[in-house]
Amino acid sequence: MESHPPPHSSRLIIDSDAIAANYQTLVRNVAPATCGAVIKADGYGLGAATIASALLRAGCRSFFVARLSEAERLRRTLGPDCDIMILNGLDPGSEAVCADAGFIPVLNSSAQLTAWRACARSAARPLPAALQVDTGMSRLGLSPEAALTAASDTELTEEIDLRLLMTHLACGDEPAREVNIDQLRRFEAVAAYYPGVAKSIANSAGAFLPPNFHCDLVRAGIALCGVAPVAGTKTLRPAVRLDARILQIRTIKPGTGVGYGLNHVASRPQRLATIATGYADGWPRSLGGKGAAWYRGVRLPIVGRISMDSLTVDIGGVAEADISEGDFVELLGPSQSIADVARDAGTIGYEILTGLGKRHARLVIENGQMRNEHNGEAA
Ligand SMILES: *Cc1c(COP(=O)(O)O)cnc(C)c1O
Repeated sequence: MESHPPPHSSRLIIDSDAIAANYQTLVRNVAPATCGAVIKADGYGLGAATIASALLRAGCRSFFVARLSEAERLRRTLGPDCDIMILNGLDPGSEAVCADAGFIPVLNSSAQLTAWRACARSAARPLPAALQVDTGMSRLGLSPEAALTAASDTELTEEIDLRLLMTHLACGDEPAREVNIDQLRRFEAVAAYYPGVAKSIANSAGAFLPPNFHCDLVRAGIALCGVAPVAGTKTLRPAVRLDARILQIRTIKPGTGVGYGLNHVASRPQRLATIATGYADGWPRSLGGKGAAWYRGVRLPIVGRISMDSLTVDIGGVAEADISEGDFVELLGPSQSIADVARDAGTIGYEILTGLGKRHARLVIENGQMRNEHNGEAA
């Protein structure tokens, strides 16, 4: 099955079949609402083009990015027929470029609304937009009051083709928090003044909240990558595997230090392997002396600090004859999920995913076949 990629020190395997399957799971979960895909930050670090084409084949037609530059790149993959919405809205001066390209900015402030209307007047046609209301997160969006004022402005509809009214949940991943209901109520109060406009509240976590959070469109990101947005969600398929090569094996004597700072000192003879992934490859430095790699189901604890290009593990749990320099160990896969690594590193899966770095050789599974995406920047 494997098309033989050029030699590499580490490989990130992206299962686009799993991403498509996760999309279908979400589609079923939120119906009759539709499911859009958020593929900002280069598709959560997995490759926006790879993910977008898998989702396009799976039937997705609404896409979200954070920035104009991401929208421009995505358009080449998606072609003209899909909606591309820009969550961070309009940078000052970018209006004409955005309008000419047919992107849909999420208008997050009265100033952005005003600028987009001015752009529409000079283009002499209504321009498409989404409007975000801040219902409690205090991050992006018009206040409910400003959104009501806009709703009562009759000239608005002549200038703006409003495609979506949206808000974002601060605590969607904590289903028991009452603030979710507060945000829903505030959103509904504004939404009543925007009849006939599609509505959206939910991100991945919101897709697992009750149906009144699903509205017309769900904006799914991390769940597509197979990371459960709410602890205990078991229906998603992992979409990422990361393997890295053993560069060197050694046995150290008691009293010998390991790595920068010699933070770890062996208290007994210790068999170590140095692995070709470091913090420049997205393995957080906070995993020094914590966390693990895996080899044939055996846990290999990380020893000492993480370096830029490598980390060191204890391979005492594997028989000497069974492991050699040049073998691959598992960093992400069946033995260790993104959530496991995030927990060990004291962070969230989003940060692990988006940090995975450009040096890993990238392989993509599509229709059960493995293909070589590219060989990494310097693998
Ligand atoms: C990033 C983002 C999403 C997607 O969030 P996930 O938790 O990855 O599903 C949805 N909506 C907005 C406004 C976002 O910024």
